[in-house]
Amino acid sequence: MKTYKIAAIPGDGIGAEVVSAGIEVLQALAKRDGSFEFLVDDFDWGGEYYKKHGRMMPGDGLDQIRNHDAILFGSAGHPDIPDHVTLWGLRLAICQPFDQYANVRPTRVLPGITSPLRKVNDKELDWVIVRENSEGEYAGVGGRVHQGSPLEAATDVAMFTRPGVERIMRFAFRLAQTRPRKLLTVVTKSNAQRHAMVMWDEIATEIAREFPDVTWDRMLVDAMTMRMVMRPQSIDTVVATNLHADILSDLAAALSGSLGIAPTANLNPERHYPSMFEPIHGSAFDIMGKGIANPIGTFWSAVMLMEHLDENPAASRLMEAIEQVTADPRFHTPDLGGSATTDDVTAAVIDAIRGANV
Ligand code: ATP
Repeated sequence: MKTYKIAAIPGDGIGAEVVSAGIEVLQALAKRDGSFEFLVDDFDWGGEYYKKHGRMMPGDGLDQIRNHDAILFGSAGHPDIPDHVTLWGLRLAICQPFDQYANVRPTRVLPGITSPLRKVNDKELDWVIVRENSEGEYAGVGGRVHQGSPLEAATDVAMFTRPGVERIMRFAFRLAQTRPRKLLTVVTKSNAQRHAMVMWDEIATEIAREFPDVTWDRMLVDAMTMRMVMRPQSIDTVVATNLHADILSDLAAALSGSLGIAPTANLNPERHYPSMFEPIHGSAFDIMGKGIANPIGTFWSAVMLMEHLDENPAASRLMEAIEQVTADPRFHTPDLGGSATTDDVTAAVIDAIRGANV
């Protein structure tokens, strides 16, 4: 029996609700499979922890989770704490030192879900967005001076390194190569940002030579938003910078029917450190504690976690269970126009796991 150690970091808001649902589903999956088990350690880091200790996670937090096989993360954010404090204090404080440079965001219109794009189904909208997750606009380079004076000035410098761009580009080409259409769109803004974005374009051309079987094209990010809406079927795999892909993937999540469905993986592809899996959505304080958070984004993230552990049959079983459940409107939470609760959806997915014939 294989044992996987999972670090669960529910964080704030609905994070706690969806992560506990995610763990229940993972345990059901392990029970159904019988060849592996999960040992789950819970970490109470986040906004409430900050209020008690003045920091989002303990000083030795990374050492506490360094040897886990994967991290299941909920959300960091607190109405009383500035967003940049919660983000840099927890999520980025894990992603950056653990070199989780590839942020992977699949988007698909699941069975039973209606996209706001008319007539679009899973054949026409089936994308994976790869977001550079370690540098670029979110590198944290910059500063602020003369605060409180009329001379106040601030900079956020987008920093791109050749190795950083090469590795994400290679990752994206490799991923595109594994998908049936073998099609990659490289998104930049190299008309206006004429230094680093031009370097992106050049590196894309170089790396493309290593993948002659992958068809690729280039888009400016503004034009890409239009293409996502007007010609969704022309897109398959996408790679973009930290900022650009952050925005494009929220659009993608909305086009797939709800922010509550979208999953993401923060991968350290070399596996020197644990990778982290989380729903795209944030803490959603407006619905916290009501028991109506859609857990599907977390369940789909758990599919990615299982794939990362190379437990592919179990990953497929979970994805199939998710699709069986979304296909049934009785299990749609209010964000999808239904009246199901988080518990209803979780129970239905667990039932589907138990009965799924994969
Ligand atoms: P944060 O500041 O932590 O990013 P936020 O509340 O600003 O959080 P999100 O949580 O990403 O932003 O979501 C915006 C809105 O979408 C929420 O207010 C909520 O109404 C809805 N939403 C997000 N996730 C879910 C979910 N899993 N289930 C149902 N509704 C959701």
